[in-house]
Amino acid sequence: MLGSAAGGGFPQWNCGCPQCRAVRTGSRPCVPRSQSSIAVSADRKLWFLFNASPDIQSQIESFPDLHPDAGRAVPLQSVLLTDAELDHTLGLLLMREGRGLEVHATESVHETLTSGTGVLRTLEAYCPVKWQPVLPGAEVPLGDGSNGLSYRAFDVPTVKPMRFPGAATYGRVVGYRVTDCGSGRSLVYLPCVQQLTPDVLEELADCSALLVDGTCWQDDEMSRLGLASKTSRDMGHVPIAGPGGSLELLSPLSIDRKVYTHINNTNPVLIQDSPERRILDQHGIEVAADGLTIEI
Ligand SMILES: [Zn+2]
Ligand SMILES: [Zn+2]
Repeated sequence: MLGSAAGGGFPQWNCGCPQCRAVRTGSRPCVPRSQSSIAVSADRKLWFLFNASPDIQSQIESFPDLHPDAGRAVPLQSVLLTDAELDHTLGLLLMREGRGLEVHATESVHETLTSGTGVLRTLEAYCPVKWQPVLPGAEVPLGDGSNGLSYRAFDVPTVKPMRFPGAATYGRVVGYRVTDCGSGRSLVYLPCVQQLTPDVLEELADCSALLVDGTCWQDDEMSRLGLASKTSRDMGHVPIAGPGGSLELLSPLSIDRKVYTHINNTNPVLIQDSPERRILDQHGIEVAADGLTIEI
């Protein structure tokens, strides 16, 4: 777990909500978090990055397995994207000094990053970029297929308004199921999910570890704090609490490790002794922190 915070990080530069104040002053038990991303490996030699956050420089420095050798070769050549959000893709621009990047993204995400935000168009001016189209439902070997990992993306429907209209709605957001071919065990990375539909829940069945969207505790969290009028669902993220919330829908699933990530700085679960955090403890659901290592 390279980063476990939602866009803006924890604390967020322009935010003085109770959690951001607490982590700045140290008045409550909580730790800073960088913007969400994970690195996955079967052998601890070759690594695959899921989303590239704007905090990628410090994330790589804090994780020695990702450091380069004396010849600037890095154990990281591929980035898999769940969507085209800036907090999941701006890190691509910070990897421009490399020898080239392989970027796995759906056609919709590729279109937004090229014609919308321009992140990929800009990156391509600096280093070779090889786009690997992601087709939801297809099982694909990671790397050259010899490292023992495969992935399958699944579509995650969202009605969040598009900032850059034009791209297809299908494949705009995906989750990834990564399988260790040796053991057959798998990990699901799902940092953005607006609604846990029956189809999405089916994709989570039988996984060993689920790293899931924990952006907001309540749907109206931002307006309660007087910070914004948008709800959690408006921003494309199912809230944890309440009817149809992720706690209700994920609690019955038998999965070894259920871990909330992509946590917004307004979410009270960031405070380790909060009542909300205790509720998650009681349900056996973890709250990710940067540096968390999970073996499946
Ligand atoms: Zn995000
Ligand atoms: Zn805040």
